[in-house]
Amino acid sequence: MPASSDPSSPPTGWRFDHSYARLPQAFHVRIDPTPVPEPKMVVLNRPLAESLGLNADALDDAAVFAGNELPPGAEPLAQAYAGHQYAHFTMLGDGRAILLGEQITPNGERFDIQLKGPGPTPFSRRGDGRAALGPMLREYIISEAMHALGIPTTRSLAVAATGEKVWRQDGGLPGAVLTRVAASHIRVGTFEYAAARGEKEVLKALADHTRQRHYPEIDDGYDALFEAVMERQAPLLAKWMHVGFIHGVMNTDNMALSGETIDYGPCAFMDAYDPATVFSSIDRNGRYAYGNQPHIAQWNLARLAEAMLPLFHDDEKQAVEIANGLISKFEGRFKHHWLAGMRAKLGLFTEEADDTELIQSLLEWMRDTKADFTNTFRDLTNGRLEPMEWHQRWSERLKRQPQSPEEVTELMRRSNPAFIPRNHKVEEALSAASDHGDLNPMQRLLTVLADPFDHAQDMPEYSQPSEQESYQTFCGT
Ligand code: AMP
Ligand code: MG
Repeated sequence: MPASSDPSSPPTGWRFDHSYARLPQAFHVRIDPTPVPEPKMVVLNRPLAESLGLNADALDDAAVFAGNELPPGAEPLAQAYAGHQYAHFTMLGDGRAILLGEQITPNGERFDIQLKGPGPTPFSRRGDGRAALGPMLREYIISEAMHALGIPTTRSLAVAATGEKVWRQDGGLPGAVLTRVAASHIRVGTFEYAAARGEKEVLKALADHTRQRHYPEIDDGYDALFEAVMERQAPLLAKWMHVGFIHGVMNTDNMALSGETIDYGPCAFMDAYDPATVFSSIDRNGRYAYGNQPHIAQWNLARLAEAMLPLFHDDEKQAVEIANGLISKFEGRFKHHWLAGMRAKLGLFTEEADDTELIQSLLEWMRDTKADFTNTFRDLTNGRLEPMEWHQRWSERLKRQPQSPEEVTELMRRSNPAFIPRNHKVEEALSAASDHGDLNPMQRLLTVLADPFDHAQDMPEYSQPSEQESYQTFCGT
């Protein structure tokens, strides 16, 4: 496969390293993307490109983003991993993703550059290794919205159309490749894979790599590493809950050790507040329902701890004791971060023992009245929520803190988004792009979502929930 390194063109800024590829052979398989007939750029994230040290003008290159040409220095590979999918253990691996390498930014940061949908790999099993345009644009929109909301997430650098159809249940769909940028793609499932191989050295190599890459400050023991991982998942889950984000498929292969949100499939934002909300068409028992997400995060971390047992202690019984001690801390850590964020959403700077109750009673009211989650907090922020009994308690509580009303409003504006990716607006953007090749609705939506805390803008078209109640999402293929 040719590398796109025409000496007459301006430098693109690619600067790859390959630390993951230096892990033991078990973790990766060298594989090239499969060329496509008609690469065409759909969207390029210029600000992200620049922050990675890439020259966005020189980069507008469909051949690279569709996988037909490799950027200079790329050494493509598919990653091996396993995972618990709906609680069932399976060997998986990158079946439709290829890592090109790790871009080293001008600040010396390291980011995985991964193509999603570049053709089959040795892990594809019966799959085609391809992706449809709709789901790739969906990941682009939601991941960029999450980033703007201040939530750790993988990013989306580009989507290129392939000119090829991908065949799914609903017939032939336009194919596309997403370029994903991530702190890494090390998953809980990567540790499960390493543990399943039964070689302690392999597991240790992965843990050391993870520590060097994401937790360089940790130097005493693998229990400390585990605790640091947990201390990123707890605030991450709290942040999801604060904005009504439902991941939809929190399998252990979709939980990143970096603490970033990863793998946007059937995810969606909740409209009316209800902890039982599920969007994914295949999540029939509500395992991954909104209100169950913290519990599932802890369940996934328990699988990580299980995988790490040989690193905790040579004696299995003692290792299990250490693991149990660690896991039991998650709930408290989650609640701590959840409460801190909920206080901010209500403009509370100080802490009082009854705050949880104050928050819960608002949430109960929201559930009983099917109030829109985002807009309730938005209206509270802007003094537009119809006063009710609860307001009395809240305003008395506000008076018991020294901050001025202006400071309260300022905190609430920073903590309550005015705009989230409303499901019908996402669908509208995707179908315009997929069915009619019209990218304007998506560009407008991306512009709104890039500034979610802009309370000066009204734009009801982007802030109202859909009339239609039974929204469903499908596993991103
Ligand atoms: P996901 O649901 O995206 O987390 O994927 C779960 C597993 O299925 C991963 O190992 C993917 O690589 C694999 N997979 C999903 N879609 C495809 C596809 N079209 N071709 C091959 N493998 C796939
Ligand atoms: Mg996945």
